[in-house]
Amino acid sequence: MQIAVLSGKGGAGKTLLAVNLANLIEGSTFLDCDVEEPNGIYYFSEYFIKEKVYSKIPVVDEKKCVNCNMCIDFCRYNALIDFIGKVKVLPSLCHSCGGCQLVCPHEAIKEKDELIGWINQTIINDHQIFGGELKIGKETGVSIIEKILQKTSDEEDSVIDCPPGNGCSVMESISGADFCLLVSEPTIFGLENLKMVYDLIKIYNKKSGIVINKAIKNNELIEAYALENNIPILGYIPFEKELALLNSKLNIVSEGKYRPYFDHILEKIRKEVLK
Ligand code: SF4
Ligand code: SF4
Repeated sequence: MQIAVLSGKGGAGKTLLAVNLANLIEGSTFLDCDVEEPNGIYYFSEYFIKEKVYSKIPVVDEKKCVNCNMCIDFCRYNALIDFIGKVKVLPSLCHSCGGCQLVCPHEAIKEKDELIGWINQTIINDHQIFGGELKIGKETGVSIIEKILQKTSDEEDSVIDCPPGNGCSVMESISGADFCLLVSEPTIFGLENLKMVYDLIKIYNKKSGIVINKAIKNNELIEAYALENNIPILGYIPFEKELALLNSKLNIVSEGKYRPYFDHILEKIRKEVLK
């Protein structure tokens, strides 16, 4: 079973849920795909083996290029431009799809490897831990996420800490997930972010459920939206100073007195996946 943990924004409690659920699932793999803020792995360890991740970036051979602009017209990411009669590559916009090389009728495009980040990895007890890290200055970590997801298989249990929002990197992160866990705070801002993420996972037709983090007495905003859209609420994590302090010091709170909250959510996810 692969569980993807999502939220519309950072700070909603996505990593708290992902780390603590992974901790409870025996032998599970933790995949931190939040490559711009890879903090989930540090709950498990400070020491990692680092693997470099490269991306393919096109290089134009000016001697062969006849300026037909077919590659420029093809690139949907606008990563190729005509600059005073010469084709220039904008690496920060390139998604390494390889298409420009294929469409060039004069074999004027080759590819080079460019370092875009790393995968940090370790094994703690019976858990394999992988975390992507985007190199500063690089625009997209999708290639890193693709490589992290290859570290696990459909037969293994895994928990993914997804990037926040609803962009390409989130879409890639949930692509193989059996269940999407949506983490939300019970505020208007939380609700708006929840709607944004739920709209995305509806497109992928994924099973999903909501956890309300920083839950207060009145969580009506989120509960009403869940009811209206027929999304199950799988649990509540209380808004408590002690829990916030433990979490801020990178403690895995599903070991202690907060364990029942996470056990309950995990049990509900398992039931939803089997439905
Ligand atoms: S590899 Fe793909 S994204 Fe990159 S420049 Fe070529 S067509 Fe555009
Ligand atoms: S498709 Fe090939 S020949 Fe045409 S502009 Fe691009 S690189 Fe040059």
